[in-house]
Amino acid sequence: MFTLKNRVALVTGGEHGIGKGIASVLHKAGARVVIGGLDEVAGQKVASELDGLFIKMDVTRQSDCRAAIADIETRFGQLDILCSNAGIFPQANLDDMTEAQWDKVHNVNLKGTFFMVQAAMAHMKKRNYGRIVLTSSITGPITGFPGWSHYGASKAGQLGFMRSAALELANSGITINAVMPGNVLTEGLKAQGEAYLNQMRAAIPTHTLGTPEDIGHAACFLASEEARYITGQQIIVDGGQILPESPDAIPG
Ligand code: NAP
Repeated sequence: MFTLKNRVALVTGGEHGIGKGIASVLHKAGARVVIGGLDEVAGQKVASELDGLFIKMDVTRQSDCRAAIADIETRFGQLDILCSNAGIFPQANLDDMTEAQWDKVHNVNLKGTFFMVQAAMAHMKKRNYGRIVLTSSITGPITGFPGWSHYGASKAGQLGFMRSAALELANSGITINAVMPGNVLTEGLKAQGEAYLNQMRAAIPTHTLGTPEDIGHAACFLASEEARYITGQQIIVDGGQILPESPDAIPG
């Protein structure tokens, strides 16, 4: 069950955080892993730890996304799994948010998803097989947080994109689904500061932040051959954070 042996997977933003967690779980399940991202030093390090490959790429550049798929096609002859994970979450309150701040978040999180999925599916269609897993978030589709209106819109947008894409891909052997992390302890989350992290721990029924591997295991299931009958869906991985109707409902 759930072996990814003989599968090739591309994980964008796999040098750090959740992407690294996804890449390591896919590797443990037997996949050849390609890390696609901006940070050459961290990317090469993770790739060598996972016996994989690093491709320098910026998901906001359509030419980079296409070149990465062409490179994988040349080296491996196949791309079975795309984990479109690269994302940013800078904070800006609506009073001060600039057009440039709005555009940057949407360019990476939403347009980057479009570019990456479009490039990967062109290859996957030729082989009539593919598993695409997006990293969305609970923030936006379900919850809100001051300073993250642009981010939340981009993460909800990924799910809207996914549902129509799932229909377009339905007869090509390709599924597209999403993982929706709650609060996962990554460099990006640590940068929000200790006060934020403590606030989140208090809001989670298990009182623990997630690990990148927690998201990796959910992504691994959606990336498996066995998940073939699941498409256009999302899995929330949040330790129950969205459940309480009131803070009093959270166990002490
Ligand atoms: P992270 O530690 O900051 O990692 C994000 C990765 O994406 C980094 O490797 C980053 O590279 C890369 N990246 C950023 N812009 C890119 C671009 N234009 N092209 C290619 N790669 C790019 O953040 P994370 O917490 O792991 O977040 C990963 C994903 O999970 C994001 O989509 C985020 O929205 C989502 N998420 C995270 C949480 C959480 O609690 N951590 C919760 C919900 C959803 P550099 O570091 O070199 O810029």
